[in-house]
Amino acid sequence: MEKVFFRKAEYDYNVLKPLVFEMIDSAGTFSVGKGTRVLIKPNLLLPAKPETAVITHPLVVKAAAEYVLEKGGRVTVSDSPAVGLFGKILKDGGYRKAFEGLDVEFKEFKTSVEVNIGEPFGFIDMAKDALEADAVINIAKLKTHAQMLLTLGVKNLFGCIVGLKKPEWHLRSGIDREMFARLLVSIHRAVSPQMTIVDGILGMEGQGPGKGGIPRKIGVLAGGSSAFAVDVTICKMLGADPDSLPTNRAAKELGLTSYDVEITGDYKVINDFLFPVQDPVTFGPKPVHRILRRHLVQRPAADKKLCKLCGECWKYCPAKAILHDKEKISFDYDKCIRCYCCIEICPEGALKAVETFPGKIIRRLLL
Ligand code: SF4
Ligand code: SF4
Repeated sequence: MEKVFFRKAEYDYNVLKPLVFEMIDSAGTFSVGKGTRVLIKPNLLLPAKPETAVITHPLVVKAAAEYVLEKGGRVTVSDSPAVGLFGKILKDGGYRKAFEGLDVEFKEFKTSVEVNIGEPFGFIDMAKDALEADAVINIAKLKTHAQMLLTLGVKNLFGCIVGLKKPEWHLRSGIDREMFARLLVSIHRAVSPQMTIVDGILGMEGQGPGKGGIPRKIGVLAGGSSAFAVDVTICKMLGADPDSLPTNRAAKELGLTSYDVEITGDYKVINDFLFPVQDPVTFGPKPVHRILRRHLVQRPAADKKLCKLCGECWKYCPAKAILHDKEKISFDYDKCIRCYCCIEICPEGALKAVETFPGKIIRRLLL
């Protein structure tokens, strides 16, 4: 049976450091010695201050890095952000300041190697540094996700797909949420981190995972050797059926988790966590999917007052479904695959997923 550890925590380094050390020791599967090359993969989505809850808090990452350094290992902190310069993310996110004086390398994922992640995907390009490290510590942020419900330990490793290959994979998975979940699980399996920690001290609820979400103080760190078990348990903590998270279902189908988890520590169910509204993305025979998508599924929409026409969303959109002129952006909802990447990466929090009128009626009838 997998073990998951919950610890009440806050962003006070004197409190945090011993908790993280104890959590890694308790998991018992992370072995580091002199010269071991350890890669830490936080969530560094875009330039954002820690109080927005968009990125993993630097102090959680610092504690894990110090653990490795104290054992004689070498630490690299890496990610492939969706938007913005890596250096700016480190500065705005408080990483530069938090890591002052520590012998830690920060390195953006840039180079890919091909790896076979199994059917139906086959060989895909993934970050070389993540695959070639001696050990990986996966440190995710607890956030809602308009498309995938939540982004936790498993989804965090989608950042090991370098740069614009990410939207390409969104497009290849299309509107099929189950297929995308299977992709995420397969990527996670290829990286195979020895330890996963989820930073839920300040999590995010509502329309995450970008700046449109609402920071929510939860006050816990969760961790264990299996990200699948960690994700299953966090769903339970948030009052959700673990099967409601597509990556949990995909991992169960692939035999990677049985949902049978031993929980220890400060675990308390939260009953009022605000999830994003989820639709059945498509149903019925395939020929009608396009029509259903057009009329029923939540669609991205812009708040014109907040949009600064910065161009990040239309540059990133995998389906090239965002149109723009000098005054506003608009959407081609026939092309849009409802991946909500635009919502995730908008630096102004100007985009939201909104229900269509017929979609709202049908959801109420079905749910
Ligand atoms: S919606 Fe956001 S990302 Fe898109 S142009 Fe406006 S501010 Fe930029
Ligand atoms: S418009 Fe937004 S939700 Fe639609 S495909 Fe483009 S990025 Fe995805």
